[in-house]
Amino acid sequence: MADWPTLSDIASQVQDGKVTARELVEKSLVAIEENKEFDAVISMTSERARSRADEIDVRIKNGEQVGRLAGVPFIAKDNFLTLTGKTTAASNMLKPFEAPYQATAINKLEAEGAICVAKANLDAFAHGSSTENSDFFTTKNPHDKERVPGGSSGGSAAAVALGVVPFALGTDTGGSVRLPASFTGVVGYKPSYGLVSRSGVVAMASSTDVVGPLARSVEDTALVLDIMAGRDDLDSTTFERDKEPYGKDSLDLSGKKIGVIREYFGEGLEAGVRQNIEAAIDMLNSAGAQVSEVSLPSVPLALAVYYIICPAEVSSNLARYDGQRFGYNAPDTKNLDESYELSREQGFGAEAKRRIMMGTYVLSSGYYDAYYKKAQTVRTKIRQEFDKAFEEFDFLVGPTAPMPAFKIGERSKDPLQMYLTDIMTVAANISGNPAISVPAGTSDNLPVGLQIIGNYKDDRRLLAAARAYQELAS
Ligand code: GLN
Repeated sequence: MADWPTLSDIASQVQDGKVTARELVEKSLVAIEENKEFDAVISMTSERARSRADEIDVRIKNGEQVGRLAGVPFIAKDNFLTLTGKTTAASNMLKPFEAPYQATAINKLEAEGAICVAKANLDAFAHGSSTENSDFFTTKNPHDKERVPGGSSGGSAAAVALGVVPFALGTDTGGSVRLPASFTGVVGYKPSYGLVSRSGVVAMASSTDVVGPLARSVEDTALVLDIMAGRDDLDSTTFERDKEPYGKDSLDLSGKKIGVIREYFGEGLEAGVRQNIEAAIDMLNSAGAQVSEVSLPSVPLALAVYYIICPAEVSSNLARYDGQRFGYNAPDTKNLDESYELSREQGFGAEAKRRIMMGTYVLSSGYYDAYYKKAQTVRTKIRQEFDKAFEEFDFLVGPTAPMPAFKIGERSKDPLQMYLTDIMTVAANISGNPAISVPAGTSDNLPVGLQIIGNYKDDRRLLAAARAYQELAS
């Protein structure tokens, strides 16, 4: 496994001429090749990476300051539009797609000297929890090749866990950054909805989609977030960032009120996971935090709400893939109608089709009130319960997932079983709150993640608290 210092240390070494950006890029590209068997990566962006590295090295030779991520290689989930290679979203529908512009998040990282070296595997269009829904291949968990890395940002998480890059980008619509972070033993951050621009990210469910970093430490995660955060004219849902940096210091936990979400400790939580999370909570307690139980009675409904709202938005967002404007176009069709029909039939995989059908159903007249409207009502209730909990508590904690990484094939035949994987992550997407998964030991040699949820727009303190936990645990 390639070893990396902290992101700031890598950048200073590059800036000080101790190592070149080009050497780091080559190190990553070699590591990706050496770890091919894990199938974390869909495509390499070697050519542009090398030329950007050379440019950076020249600028440094000329005495310029390059940025906080000078020469740091990273991998982006393949649903981020990039100016090089293809952006497939791991779907046959977008297999031939070359993006005409680049995601704001990537532009911001590049402006600080970071270099995208590859595009990571995911569940097609980010629909899933294991990367088994990728139209291309399934990523393997670095801790056990017979197990999934979690999803949908499974390629990004595996890449970080394998050490082929020091950080990666994912997206989290219902848990897709936190879940794979938990399954692979890395840190995964879901920011407050609107803190990071979604411009240039293939849309899944626009009201819950967020861009999130994966890295090996909270410190690195926070630095990447700090660079990406902030208002963007290209995404009207973004808000102004804090003036102070995110996660620069760790928080003094003494006297902080931490609520343990009762509903996350019920039936279905595996014993090994429970043990690790309880041990983590004990650590918070001994650091002086005031830990007590809190109940959010509507949170168990979040999964049902999510699997109505998410497919509704998916059905709308996937309507643009009609074979005419971009992506796959079915060959030899007789007329326009047949072209629409066959392009969608051949281009979309089973899960995308399932979500289009569910979404169209819950939005159709006669069912809209019974499903979609009701789900929106419960969504408001869930938000209110979070708001109320944060009047009393600084942070809420629980497991990220009820189980560690499961075996490839174990859940893929039954969509409901797969959806249940998200039971502890979706609530924060429904409410818009920030949440993080931090490694909290292992159960049978498989990583377990502690989830910490913060108040809306309280990302700075959440990262500082997570940093404090990581220091306690190490
Ligand atoms: N696993 C969830 C789903 O299938 C979440 C996906 C995501 O966050 N992109 O919808």
